[in-house]
Amino acid sequence: MTPDLMNVPAVFQGAVLDGFTLLLAGHVAFGGDKLVPIGRLHYVLHWLYGKYEPWILRLVDWFLRKRFITETRPGRDFLTLLATASHFLPHGIVVPTASAVHLVRFIESLRGEENAPKLAVGPCVCQMALDRWQEPSCKDIVVLYGAEIYLHLDLGYRIITADEAAAILEQCRDAGLVHSLDFCMQSGRWHFVICNCDREICVLVRTFLLTGKMIYPGPFIVKQDRERCLGPDACGQCVKICLFGANSVRDQVVHVDGRKCYGCGQCVRVCRGKTRELVRRARYAHEKVVPAQVLLEGVISPSGTSGPAA
Ligand code: SF4
Ligand code: SF4
Ligand code: SF4
Repeated sequence: MTPDLMNVPAVFQGAVLDGFTLLLAGHVAFGGDKLVPIGRLHYVLHWLYGKYEPWILRLVDWFLRKRFITETRPGRDFLTLLATASHFLPHGIVVPTASAVHLVRFIESLRGEENAPKLAVGPCVCQMALDRWQEPSCKDIVVLYGAEIYLHLDLGYRIITADEAAAILEQCRDAGLVHSLDFCMQSGRWHFVICNCDREICVLVRTFLLTGKMIYPGPFIVKQDRERCLGPDACGQCVKICLFGANSVRDQVVHVDGRKCYGCGQCVRVCRGKTRELVRRARYAHEKVVPAQVLLEGVISPSGTSGPAA
């Protein structure tokens, strides 16, 4: 032990040594079809983000609760400007459950450091930061170096298998939550978490709903057979569940606006008339962040559950 460390209380010595160990270890990130090493600066910057994330979320939540921000044009413009300038902060790609499951299985199959965790789960940081709890709350599935960081931050995260992650994703789907593959710096190498979000608490979704920023459509879009629709009075489930406001009622007929559909699959799940399906979006814009092939087929198991399922 260095003389400097001998003068530091034991609890801090442990933290400092832990920090050095993590810093010196090799860390890997999602690199599309393989694991890629990341630099120490990348790791430290993201660790700092993880450490101060609750403060950032509380600050954004403070803005989101101000009537000036939510109810006036200048306020919304100001928030939109902030969201646009925050391109380095987490942004999310919306995917249906089958795609999120493909991704966790794919990540688990990638070869890397034998002892490094690939998947972990812990309490939703938005709920934790705002102290507003709603079940399921243990739903942030961190991946690769993101798992290392959040385990190290000692926030109650635990290592899980892809099977356990799939079960959590299905539980979140059944609770009406939307899966979002979150990444920083507009790069797949900064993909660190699969979030499962709602519209009441999630800071990312609430910011998106006011600004249209920070959440991107995934590789799917919904297709509706209007002839078989049961109508808004007999059903109307798609209108209620869509977090993105893509479904509306005009003249007692349910319409879906493809420009507003982000491809989460929730309306497919709840459609009582079985009139909906997810189809491949013509232009998926985030191939370099998370490749469509991983989300469509899981790449490693093309004979498995391929194609979109809600
Ligand atoms: S983005 Fe969603 S899942 Fe992630 S911490 Fe916030 S509410 Fe929780
Ligand atoms: S229309 Fe359906 S698939 Fe598209 S965003 Fe809304 S709920 Fe999700
Ligand atoms: S959920 Fe399906 S059946 Fe129900 S209103 Fe929407 S499209 Fe029609």
